[in-house]
Amino acid sequence: MRTLHTADIVLPMGGAPLIERGGVVVDGDGTILAVGEREHLGSAFDAELHHGILMPGVLNAHVHLTDARREERVPGGDGLNAWVRRLMAARGEEATRDAARAAVPLNDAVAAALLEMKRAGTVAIGEVANNYGTFDAIARSGMHCRFIHELIGFRGVRAAAILEAALESEAATAFPRTIHHTLAAHAPYSVSPGLMQLIAETAGGRGRRFHQHLAEDPAERELYMHGGGPWRDYLEQVGAWDDAWVPPGSGPIAFYEKAGLLSERFVAVHLAEATRDELATLGRHGVRAILSPASNLHITGLLPDLEAIVREGIPFALGTDGRGSGLGVDVFEEAHILLQRWPDLPPGILLQALTDVAADTLELPGLGRLAVGAQPGLLALDLAVPGPDLRQVERAVITSGADRRYLHQPAAS
Ligand SMILES: [Zn+2]
Repeated sequence: MRTLHTADIVLPMGGAPLIERGGVVVDGDGTILAVGEREHLGSAFDAELHHGILMPGVLNAHVHLTDARREERVPGGDGLNAWVRRLMAARGEEATRDAARAAVPLNDAVAAALLEMKRAGTVAIGEVANNYGTFDAIARSGMHCRFIHELIGFRGVRAAAILEAALESEAATAFPRTIHHTLAAHAPYSVSPGLMQLIAETAGGRGRRFHQHLAEDPAERELYMHGGGPWRDYLEQVGAWDDAWVPPGSGPIAFYEKAGLLSERFVAVHLAEATRDELATLGRHGVRAILSPASNLHITGLLPDLEAIVREGIPFALGTDGRGSGLGVDVFEEAHILLQRWPDLPPGILLQALTDVAADTLELPGLGRLAVGAQPGLLALDLAVPGPDLRQVERAVITSGADRRYLHQPAAS
């Protein structure tokens, strides 16, 4: 079964220019057989369909499906520390309802969220989780996934044991071909320098990237500068403070640079509070970013300095984060926020953030590009096309709304 999809505009991504009056030939399992101008694609097809715009399926690079059952956002606006305290209290209440069998099963909520993502054009996620509670539902859904096991531990003496437990749970898990593993360090205020080193070494030894929430909120800088502030209070209250830890007297980014932790393996999530100098440092070391502006606006009201991120050449992808900070799972909405705030970015950079740059960041190389031989999922947008100008096409795609997107994707075997 060979189907020709034609479109006014085809966006192959991966550095290839847009194609006017283009087409994409796919076979029955979704493998791309040809991409090009319609007139060069011949006529040997079993079916032909026409669309406004064609592009690869998109990637939602940072989600926390652990919170998929949440029906309301955890109130925010007064900083990350206050929000985390409320999130932990809400998770505690959920655990009580679980014990009483009064909660929606997590598997059902994860499956529903993944279906909603698929309907919005998503073919892959970066799932960030402290445990494997969401794993089975993701595996059953057929969604491609970088399963990012996020480790937490501020007390230095526990670092080796925390890593060992993570490697044991990985070894005990059967990974289907759609799910790949990597590690994350939760955040500078919750991960000791020793654990950070172990995560970086383990990821490096496997040739993998590792992820971390970084510069999400000013309080982590306060902790690293002076050893005080709301994170110290919190860590003491939950019994996680380390009396042996000495604050480095700089922000975490300068500290990580000195410790040799910044590299192209490092994926920094948020960067909402990073200064221009810090972004220049990250750019110099080849660090990548995942931005989650809806979550930032809810929790702290800060947005990352996207002009500086672009100027420093930091590749960025996008993620909708957890339902505690944003109920939506449509990653196009994240691009929409950035487009509204920065309408004059280099044309195409937000489309890349949704597709090829996200695939590179999550190390899922078969996705994010309409490449011959690949199965990236074909996303059709039922739109009136504004002409071949990339900036206008990008705006039309990002403001399209999920109801005008149709994902042609074979069921995962
Ligand atoms: Zn997150």
